[in-house]
Formats: sequence, C-alpha cells, structure tokens
Amino acid sequence: MQFIDLQKQYQVLKSGIDSRIQKVLDDGHYIGGEEVKELSQKLADYCGAKYCLTCANGTDALTIALRCFGVGKGDAVFVPDFTFFASAETPALEGAICIFVDVEERTFNLDADKLDKAITEVLAEGKLTPKCIIAVDLFGQCADYTKIRKVADKYGLPILEDGAQGFGGSINGKKACSFGDISTTSFFPAKPVGCYGDGGAIFTDNKEYYDLMCSLAVHGKGSYKYDNIRIGYNSRLDTVQAAILLEKLKAFEDYELVNRNVIANKYTELLKEKYITPLVPKGFESSWAQYTLILKDAEERVKVQNALKSKGIQTMIYYPIAMHNQTAFKNYNFNLSDLKVSSNLADRVLSIPMHPYLEDSDIEYICNALLEI
Ligand SMILES: *Cc1c(COP(=O)(O)O)cnc(C)c1O
Repeated sequence: MQFIDLQKQYQVLKSGIDSRIQKVLDDGHYIGGEEVKELSQKLADYCGAKYCLTCANGTDALTIALRCFGVGKGDAVFVPDFTFFASAETPALEGAICIFVDVEERTFNLDADKLDKAITEVLAEGKLTPKCIIAVDLFGQCADYTKIRKVADKYGLPILEDGAQGFGGSINGKKACSFGDISTTSFFPAKPVGCYGDGGAIFTDNKEYYDLMCSLAVHGKGSYKYDNIRIGYNSRLDTVQAAILLEKLKAFEDYELVNRNVIANKYTELLKEKYITPLVPKGFESSWAQYTLILKDAEERVKVQNALKSKGIQTMIYYPIAMHNQTAFKNYNFNLSDLKVSSNLADRVLSIPMHPYLEDSDIEYICNALLEI
C-alpha cells in the first residue's frame, strides 16, 4: 500500500487535468500564461491573503521571504528544531545564524514559551540581532499563532509562516498562509496540494513586501525585466504546473480536504486506545500532510515499521534527525536541555499512509495491522 497515492488521484482527475495541460500546449504561453495569474488570485482568495506570488518551489519561497525581511549576516533567525531542513537551510544561506527552538510534543509545532526564552537569551548575549521568527505548520497543522504573535510583537519581530505542509489548515476558520507577515507554501507533489513537478507560493498583505518579492523572483527587476536594480533569482511557477494546480485546488476545496479529515478521524478513533495519536487543539483544523504517531521509543518504532512493511504497508519517518543534530549545523553551540522534546520526537515518530483516496478497507487494514502488534 502506497504512502501517498498520486496515481490514484490522477485517475480521478485525469480528464480535467489533461484538458488543462492541452490548453496550455495549444496556447503556447509556457511561462507566465494566464493560468499563472488565475492561480495566484485563487490562492490569495483561498488563504485570505491580499497578495500571492507563485514561484519555483517552497525553498525559494522561504529565501525570497527572508530577503524581504532583510535577513543577513549577524542576524538571528528563530527556527523550530523539528522540521524539514529547508526551514533552517534558507536563513543559513542568507548568512544568518539559526537559533533552534524546541517544539510542543503533541502538536509538533514551535513552543511559544521556549521561543520567548530563546529571544531573551540572544538579546542578553548581545552578539546577534534577532531578525525574524520562522514558524512551521508541520504535518498540516498550523502553529499556535495566537501565542507566537504575542511573542513576536513583544520583541518587534516579523513572522515568516512556513506553510509548505500547512496549506488548507486553519485556526478558527482563518486559513494557513495568512498568519505570517509573509507566508510561504510548496506544491511539491507530496504536499497537501501538489503539482507534477516543483512549485511554491508566497503570501502577504503588505504591498511593499509584495513589490519586493515580485522583483526578487525575476532577477531583481526594476521597471522591467532588463532593468535590474538588485540581485535576485529566477524563480517562477510555469504555466503547465499552474494549470495542473487549478484543477487540483478545485478537488482540494470540493472534497479532498474533507476526506483527509474524515480519514484522520477514523485513524484516531481506531488507534487512540493503543497509540499516541496526533492532537488537534480546539479551533484548529489540519490538512493532514502527514498522520504521525508517537511510539514508545526507537526500538518500538523499528518493530512497528517492520511489522507494517511485512504486510505491504509503507511508513515514513518525518523527521529522523532534529535540526540541531544535522551535520550541516555541527559547529553551532546548542543548549541541549532546551531541545529535548524535538530530539525525543526524532526517535519516536512514525507517519502512516495518508492521502484523500484511502478507502475504508485500507484504513481498517492499516489499523488492524497496528493493533495486532
Ligand atoms: C517541503 C517543505 C519545504 C520546501 O519545499 P520545496 O518545494 O520542496 O522546496 C519547506 N519547508 C517545509 C516544512 C517543507 O515540508
């Protein structure tokens, strides 16, 4: 059984996707076609953001957002310790120092109290300038922006919402990618809404940031493409991917997001007696980029993973290594006692198949296999 069954989704959406791709081929506007404009508007409307710029991938989206904040050498950027590498790689690439902050065990997301403490410590040490906070919507669930925004305001720092996995999630009806001063997402095929290649988007309500990101994404353009006023990037979503995303976004809005929640609720109902299942706090809705269990320890995880594998059920470990343990950051000094939740999760998490086309019989098969262990 596949972890994420993209072929099955394609079979369901085939006629719509095929005709949209064919239209792009017939029109011949392979870069910057009308589908790109239409998609940007739909994404902004869906997320409740004023502006949306589509770009080449979720990593570029983060980089461009950090450039808008002016992140560079001598700056401290606060990043959750438990995330995909790109959340930490991008500030490091701008020359900033990542200050890794522990997460809450049951939501896997940034711990606002520990964030406050980390900012205080950096200020007290006086070596780095706190510049921005990156909060990640891990596994489809928004970070706690009510608490995080309070901390951000206390120190006058902007928030970059890394919504690469969070698209479609919400807090009290307010959608992911609307919580950051700048928010980003990814359309990598395995994300809640994915294209058939790489893609990403950047969201903001701030016109100045929006104008700047439009310039950065097109070689730092000024009044037009061949007037270059800053060093930028070539980062755009091509028209074929935009066409595919228009069709996928429709399915996501019509029924996929609902199905993801129905499936997650069934998992939780069947598994909660025997396993630590994901916690969705009151008012939050997840888009279930992953459905992740917390097992007793690393040993039990190997056992469970092997037992499921022997029954043809694919599982994944997101993520096996906390950021502070990554080789790329080995020269950093960490206060390890402050990062123990994240280290512990790296040894214990296990994600089971999750996609909107799982059938009841699949869910029962997976849960029975888990309950028999
Ligand atoms: C996938 C992901 C990214 C990067 O997105 P790409 O489109 O693969 O570059 C960034 N942050 C998080 C949390 C992700 O899961």
